[in-house]
Amino acid sequence: MSQKKLMVLLVVIVALAAIPLVSMAQAPQGQGQQPPADGQRRGGARGEGRGRGGDGQAAPRGDGQGRGGDARGAAQAPPAPQMIKQVKPGVYMVINGGGNSTVRVTDQGVILVDTKNLGDQFYNELVAQIKTVTPQPVKYAFVTHVHQDHAGNIERFQKAGTQVIVYEGLNKNLHVGGPNGKGYEAAQGKPADAKLTYTKNKKVKLGKAEAIAYHFDNGHTSGDTVVYFPDVKVVSLGDEFTAAGPNVDYPNGGSILGWSKSLAQVLKLDFDTAIPGHGNDPLKKADVMTFQKRMDAIGKKAVELVKAGTPKEQIRQQIQMQLGPEMGNWQMTNIVNDMRLDLFYQEISNAAKGRRTE
Ligand SMILES: [Zn+2]
Ligand SMILES: [Zn+2]
Repeated sequence: MSQKKLMVLLVVIVALAAIPLVSMAQAPQGQGQQPPADGQRRGGARGEGRGRGGDGQAAPRGDGQGRGGDARGAAQAPPAPQMIKQVKPGVYMVINGGGNSTVRVTDQGVILVDTKNLGDQFYNELVAQIKTVTPQPVKYAFVTHVHQDHAGNIERFQKAGTQVIVYEGLNKNLHVGGPNGKGYEAAQGKPADAKLTYTKNKKVKLGKAEAIAYHFDNGHTSGDTVVYFPDVKVVSLGDEFTAAGPNVDYPNGGSILGWSKSLAQVLKLDFDTAIPGHGNDPLKKADVMTFQKRMDAIGKKAVELVKAGTPKEQIRQQIQMQLGPEMGNWQMTNIVNDMRLDLFYQEISNAAKGRRTE
């Protein structure tokens, strides 16, 4: 009997003791554990995000801006929808989905500048935006340079019957040089070769409109084209003018000294409106003039400093000090950041010795 009682008592004690254990075990599962688990997951995601951002920022600078800059934009947020805006009667720009596209509408067809990010989504969206202002097909497309946010859909336009025209240096950028020696390639893929190339300039006439493509010099890359529409006094500059400031892609033949020379030639054209490679609004000629003067001043100051024996490690600080923070800050991030210092100094040193790099 007493043994039975003891057993019952033991069972009761164990049962009683187990209740708090169970409730404690349940509580962390139900309330305590989950929030921390979420918190951890969120923390982890934040950490990864930072890591990716860091990589994305560091790598492309050295590799050539097209790669990382574009990849970063595509990987993080869904892209903002493309939007066509009138610049002048018969002239439009399409923003978002890559670099800006210029759309010159005539009753004989469209002349397009730049083809947006590589991919069906971006191509279809661009074509749909153009359709909102004209039923005419795109007869000609110029591409300002090799980066996929401009050259991405060369192949799709060619398949649709558009004559795509590039400076010969663009096709070269696709196959020679670049970070691994095999030419430019982005995370999104490799843009296709354009079937039509020009060496100095190329004029196209359509209806009453005219467009002339020029390669004045190596600037953003060694495949740069600017497109001039003389009858409407508009010029499309690709990434030789972006709202964010200049970005010299040295691995793809970019040149700070060539860039200011190219823009100096652009300024000789009779235009009042410029369409930038990035940035939501058209620019005035005065904006291009300011931009050119800055590039010119930075290049000249750098050559002067190298001639005076300024070591590589001090050149940025010296440029910044001597030209003032306004220009100094503008050029530090994209022209001569850490990853690009060697190539920048190499170009400037060659120029200081009287040699131009190609
Ligand atoms: Zn661009
Ligand atoms: Zn670019």
